Amino acid sequence: MSIIVERFNKIKSNIEKVSSYTSRTIIAVSKTFSLDHIMPLIDYGHMHYGENKVQEAEVKWSQIKSKNKDLKLHMIGKLQSNKAKKAVQIFDYIHSLDSQKLADVLANSQENINKSIKYFIQVNLGNEIQKSGIPYNEVDAFYNYCVKEKNLNVLGLMAIPPNDNKSEEYFKSISELNASLGLKNLSIGMSSDYMEAINYKSTHLRIGSSIFGERS
Ligand SMILES: *Cc1c(COP(=O)(O)O)cnc(C)c1O
Repeated sequence: MSIIVERFNKIKSNIEKVSSYTSRTIIAVSKTFSLDHIMPLIDYGHMHYGENKVQEAEVKWSQIKSKNKDLKLHMIGKLQSNKAKKAVQIFDYIHSLDSQKLADVLANSQENINKSIKYFIQVNLGNEIQKSGIPYNEVDAFYNYCVKEKNLNVLGLMAIPPNDNKSEEYFKSISELNASLGLKNLSIGMSSDYMEAINYKSTHLRIGSSIFGERS
C-alpha cells in the first residue's frame, strides 16, 4: 500500500478513537504536490482535497474533476476578489471568505454559473496583521451580511490560530463563537493539532504534511 494511503489511514484511525469518523471531513491539503503524488489517495477513494492558489488548483484539478464528479475541492488560501470568478468555477468549498467585497463578487459569480458554493468565514483569531480574516468582534455582523444580504451558504467558521502554542485557547473561543451563531460545521485543525481541534468540535480538518509529506 502507498505510504500516502498508510498515513491517511493512520489519521483516520486516530480520529476514530475519539469520535465517529463519518462526522468529520478530512481535507487532504495537496498544495505544492503534483497530481502524480496525490493519485494513490484519489484511487483509494478519498474525495476531499485542499488547495491555496486558484491558478495551481485549476491546472492540477480541472481535467480530473471533470471526469470524476465526486471529487470536491476546497479553497483554503487567501482569495483576491479578482480571482473569485475563477475560484467559483473550480472549487466546491471556500474556507477563506473574509471581506464584504469578496462576498459580493462570489455571490455574483456563483449566480452567473448557477452553482452553489459552500463557505466558511475566516476569522482572524489573534488579530494578527499578517493574517487575513474577520476580527472576532465583527464576525456576527459579517455572517449576517453573507447570509441575509448575499444568500451565501455559510457552513461555519474557519481559522488558522497564531503560532504561539496556545491553539487550544483559540480553538475554544472560535468553537463558542461558531455555536453562538448556530453553525454546525467548523474548519479548524491541521497536521499538528487536529486532535485538539476535534475536542473543540471541528468538522473539517485541513491536513497536509501528515498525509503527503513535508512541502519543499
Ligand atoms: C497548508 C495549510 C494547511 C495544512 O497544513 P499542514 O500543517 O501541512 O497540515 C491547512 N490550512 C491552511 C489554511 C493551509 O494553508
